[in-house]
Amino acid sequence: MRAVVYARVSTEHEAQINALENQLEWYKIEASRHSDWEITEVYVDQGITGTQAQKRPEFLRMMEDARKGKFDLIITREVSRFARNTVDALSYTRELKAMGVNVFFINDGINTATNDGELRLTIMSSMAQDESRKISERVKAGQKISREKHVLYGSGNILGYRRENGTYIPDPDQAETVRLIFQMYSDGEKGLTKIVNELYRLGRLDAGGHVSWDASKVSRVLHNATYKGCICYNKSHSDGYLTQKRVKNLDESSYVYVKGDFEPLVSEEMWDRCQQILLARSARVIDENGKKHKYMRNTPKSVWTAKLRCSCGAGFIQFKWRVNRDGAVVHGFQCYRRTRRPSISYLQEHGLDLGISCQIKAISEWKLDLMASKVFQNLTFDKGKTVKEVYRILNRCMAEEKTVRISRKAMLENSIAKQKERLDRYIDLCADGVITKQELMERRKGLDEQIAELQSQYESIEQEDERSGSIDMKLISQKLDEWQKAAKTDVSRELINSCVAQITPVSNEEFRWVLDFQLSEVKGINMTSCTMDGFMELARFVIPFEDAKAFKASRNQKIHRRDWTDLTVVVGIRSKIHP
Ligand SMILES: [Zn+2]
Repeated sequence: MRAVVYARVSTEHEAQINALENQLEWYKIEASRHSDWEITEVYVDQGITGTQAQKRPEFLRMMEDARKGKFDLIITREVSRFARNTVDALSYTRELKAMGVNVFFINDGINTATNDGELRLTIMSSMAQDESRKISERVKAGQKISREKHVLYGSGNILGYRRENGTYIPDPDQAETVRLIFQMYSDGEKGLTKIVNELYRLGRLDAGGHVSWDASKVSRVLHNATYKGCICYNKSHSDGYLTQKRVKNLDESSYVYVKGDFEPLVSEEMWDRCQQILLARSARVIDENGKKHKYMRNTPKSVWTAKLRCSCGAGFIQFKWRVNRDGAVVHGFQCYRRTRRPSISYLQEHGLDLGISCQIKAISEWKLDLMASKVFQNLTFDKGKTVKEVYRILNRCMAEEKTVRISRKAMLENSIAKQKERLDRYIDLCADGVITKQELMERRKGLDEQIAELQSQYESIEQEDERSGSIDMKLISQKLDEWQKAAKTDVSRELINSCVAQITPVSNEEFRWVLDFQLSEVKGINMTSCTMDGFMELARFVIPFEDAKAFKASRNQKIHRRDWTDLTVVVGIRSKIHP
């Protein structure tokens, strides 16, 4: 029987190249045990793994030779080295069998000449495929690790280090801050807030060179394995085939830490101790099913948290202020910045800048309700006056917008003319033989594109011109009618949601209410492009104790004069959407 050998070695592994001779030797020995075999040819594919069957020139040559009837049997070591997957292994062996060629997989003990050959091959092949997948995953993981090893991520602004030549060099002053944070936390007595306070008191600088700290920043320092000299992998992974987004891996136990080649700032023991404390404290929140949660789950979002924005720039969070005797929960709203920074009393006590925190105090929900009702009453009290005022402001805004458009158009016209001049000059240069026709074409292409871009900008401004009609006083009036109908003592959340753009405490006694007339939808007024500072005052009024008392009374509640401070409410329109 004419037999051939098919062997495959992966040159990725040096040992295997050396093993090629051994392998061929092995086939010889194997063949000597079958006296009826006559080895006529040896096919060897090198440097390719089983999953790249299409790139196996020797395998293809062997198939070609089989078609020519050059041999009767292929001897190979195992299924996984013969084909890429089950489908391939079976289709090749079937094809060969049809040509009268059998395959003998020595290690697997499968010979397609036997009756159960194909069945066994199916089983073996599927196992090989599974194995191949596993190997591929393992190889990928290994490559990932070795590729990422000693490779540092990010922009490199990490507290405690300077980044030099692809590694971290400790920055003495910042490193001291890092050690201080770990020391303070590791004794288990100070929480994140106390550490924040302390950092402010000591005036420690952060990575950006500012005295700016909050609990999450300190927490990030404590979680960062860089400080024990490690690089952490597997913090995120690709979400797979479809979107290739990075997904944060929340299971910290599966993080892989690889020793980096830079100086640690804290000992591994201290780092580990801090992780234990972090873990013990973070698992405090336990839900009704007895499951531990790392973070407190958010209270349902209220319309107020959506609309409130502090004058310091931060948003507001809702909290449970107290529970009334009747069981009703009283909510309050507090500036987020204020909740994350040292308290005002701490700052005062240590003579620190009060601007570190925010001075806006928490506000109770009923005061917001009270203001809302007064805002809508005020606007609809003298409707004619309000309409005129809104009209005046919006017109001013539109005039401003128009001025901006005119000057932008002039600038664009100028740029277009300049580019056209340049093009003319190139044409002259080409005519004079200074540049070749080819060069002219190349330059012309770039200039044509630029001119087209400028022209399309110009056109879109012209379209804006067409869109911006005049403001219809009737529409403003209609809006006010709607509001008047909807507004009662208790203004509905829906009305606030649709008509109020933002509520900002300017101080603890003065609130700014920004209304949204939503006229942009109707008339194409581009509210966002007005260039004025953004807020235009429509009305201003004070809510005295009597009003507060009456409002409370409508809810069967009482309020003492000593608990009340008059509130000033400024109502206006905003011409710029707050970022
Ligand atoms: Zn604030």
